[in-house]
Amino acid sequence: MKRIEPLARLIEHFKALPGIGSKTAVRLAYHVLDMDADKAKELAAAIVNAKEKIGYCRTCFNLSDEDPCIICKAAGRDHTVICVVEQPQDVDAVERMRDFRGVYHVLHGALSPLEGIGPDNLRVKELLARMQDGSVKEVIMATNPNVEGEATAMYLARLLKPLGVKVTRIAHGLPVGGDLEYADEVTLSRAMENRIEL
Ligand SMILES: [Zn+2]
Repeated sequence: MKRIEPLARLIEHFKALPGIGSKTAVRLAYHVLDMDADKAKELAAAIVNAKEKIGYCRTCFNLSDEDPCIICKAAGRDHTVICVVEQPQDVDAVERMRDFRGVYHVLHGALSPLEGIGPDNLRVKELLARMQDGSVKEVIMATNPNVEGEATAMYLARLLKPLGVKVTRIAHGLPVGGDLEYADEVTLSRAMENRIEL
């Protein structure tokens, strides 16, 4: 069969997305071709728009379409308590349990010597900068309960404690090796409540 170039290109783009195999990529590409022209344009525009409008909050480094983000600038959030997470999706997970009133710091990864990810690849300097004015009382390590997440929490605790900040780690009870992102609200809420000082 002669290769239809625009179709092949679309399939390649879908295949490059996480969790999409060859079969799904083909199915999605055919689905797009079946769409009304208007719907297809809306889809393409949504991708471009999200890419253009969303950046990082320069305080907490969560994804946001404004700077500071809505959490950092919300009245009633406690800026003396910072919850450190690996990814923006983890902020959503903690927000879903609705009882955390502090603010966040998104590292954008975890330490992983094997993958060559060191402190300079994460938003560590920026976290330390937030300790400068002495107003932060507690930093809660809510990194993932796996090897990299634990190592990251320990590393940050060693940097932060000499600055006189209380450093806590969310309790176990979260599935070990799991992702914070997928923890249910009750488990996460209990883990947060039973956090221990590092
Ligand atoms: Zn923010």
